Amino acid sequence: MNTATVIGLGNMGVVLARLLLRAGYRVTVWNRSRDKADALAGEGAVAAASVVEAVKASPLVIICVYDYPATQAILARPDVEAALGGRILVQLTTGSPRDARESETWAHRHGASYLDGAIQAAPAQMGLPDTAILVSGAKTTFETVEPTLKLFGGGLTYLGEAISAAAAMDLATLSYVYGTFFGFVHGARIAEHEGFGVEQFGAIVEKISPAFGAFLKHEANVIQSGDFTISQSPMTISIEATDRILATARESGIDDEIPAFFAQFFQRAKAAGYANEEAAALIKLLRNGKAPRPAHSAKAVAATA
Ligand code: NAP
Repeated sequence: MNTATVIGLGNMGVVLARLLLRAGYRVTVWNRSRDKADALAGEGAVAAASVVEAVKASPLVIICVYDYPATQAILARPDVEAALGGRILVQLTTGSPRDARESETWAHRHGASYLDGAIQAAPAQMGLPDTAILVSGAKTTFETVEPTLKLFGGGLTYLGEAISAAAAMDLATLSYVYGTFFGFVHGARIAEHEGFGVEQFGAIVEKISPAFGAFLKHEANVIQSGDFTISQSPMTISIEATDRILATARESGIDDEIPAFFAQFFQRAKAAGYANEEAAALIKLLRNGKAPRPAHSAKAVAATA
């Protein structure tokens, strides 16, 4: 398959179209604002006059727009739905597991094969050997378009037939990223308050990240196995560490909201009796919430610190 249509030429969509052009594909493009399609025509793409024309031009239609409502605004019209029959639609717009399920149902109703994907990289990082892209949906459909999707990123990962998998794993990954980011900015505040270069802190973070990634993979295996016997990191270490970060923030007079949140969580795990288990036992709090949630978590931790 060396013919494809790309719908949506925002920061990400335009890069997808360019990667296909670079690989010698015949690329048809459409974008709500016509000027972006015209600009790509200058690089060898065919700028379709309408969405229907764009869909009819290729057996593979890739869409990457702002969100799923935008996708529906573009595709959920009788003429476009009729044109989608028999084609493969690959959705690379970021969305939720529910968005993915509803889109698949809608696409199948109109006779299209459907894959749902999540791009885990910035536009400038696309097309590299390790660019991470998650995809889920029917295996035969994935196999048909795999060589094309690989042009977008060598780190393409197929997550199976359940259509919501890519969106679910994207959300799970983002949750990890934002949790880390909050810890990172508090760490940056410690560094600057203590009079050290934040860039030095950034360099240390980069150095420890591969090992931390391996540690988290181990903790994931612990959670999956259900055996929380101490294997690498007893929870007591984390209880003490988060208390120390919180106490230091308060002594220094820097903002304590982030460490207070972490510390109260570990205190709840301790109260629930998980202190002498592997750190990953924290997930049991999320599962059953049996440890009482303090009304004002920061104050509750202050009382225990
Ligand atoms: P963007 O630059 O803001 O472009 C948005 C695109 O959606 C444009 O083509 C825009 O058309 C179109 N659009 C928005 N609302 C529309 C509507 N109601 N009807 C029709 N078209 C509409 O966004 P982007 O960075 O390309 O991101 C696209 C998707 O990729 C998002 O889901 C994003 O989460 C995901 N993604 C982006 C990045 C990133 O770093 N950029 C990374 C990973 C994933 P106009 O040009 O006419 O406005």
